[in-house]
Amino acid sequence: MPAKPIIGISAYPKTYEAATGPTLLHTASRYYVEAVERAGGIPVVLPVVDPDDVPGMLEAVDGVVMTGGGDVQPSLYGATPAPETHNVDPRRDAFDMTLLRAALDRDIPVLAICRGMQVANVALGGTLVQDVGDVSGVRHDQHKHGHEAVHRVKIEPDSHLAEALGETELDVNSIHHQAVLEAAPGSRAVAWADDGTVEAFEIEGNRHLVAVQWHPELLQDLPEQQGLFRQLISRAAELRSAGH
Ligand code: MN
Repeated sequence: MPAKPIIGISAYPKTYEAATGPTLLHTASRYYVEAVERAGGIPVVLPVVDPDDVPGMLEAVDGVVMTGGGDVQPSLYGATPAPETHNVDPRRDAFDMTLLRAALDRDIPVLAICRGMQVANVALGGTLVQDVGDVSGVRHDQHKHGHEAVHRVKIEPDSHLAEALGETELDVNSIHHQAVLEAAPGSRAVAWADDGTVEAFEIEGNRHLVAVQWHPELLQDLPEQQGLFRQLISRAAELRSAGH
């Protein structure tokens, strides 16, 4: 049995123009892969399969990273699509929502990033702002400069997030145009931008989910951001040694 915990990275399906015609690739950005490796885990990519197979898939992993990507279908949180909502993938939504719920049911630790955080909020019963715009001068959609920190977040000191980062205030990147509107029942916001945008949440009394709106994998050269991956892998290692 390998000593290192195995960390599933949820795939971002993308169409690729192969020589034989367009095909779908189940992709994972190098930054998620490298952040997991650097923190001592073995990354595996979890392709978007039939949700019925998600529980079986989870038998192979000790932790999960829910990755970034397109917008969640508004119908999943009882809204009609706004013009700004784009890049919706219902098959990915169904897979991701099942993955998040099934992982938490099994006490498998999850780090949910950007879209991953939005999926987690919807999967647990919350809703989303379909387009945050530039509220109060805080620019949340920085487009191509994701390796730069662009806005401040304040962090709840008594949180798993603060423990992972070792900070209660820091600058983060911001590559999102949607955000949490109504928090899911049982969740609690643990980080906010200066305009009040929720930048992270956890579940009351449950240490297995840390959800962040920014992209720590793009800031992994900063030790505090890499702390999020170290925390995930440390909890995955505990689960592994308990023989889950
Ligand atoms: Mn932001």
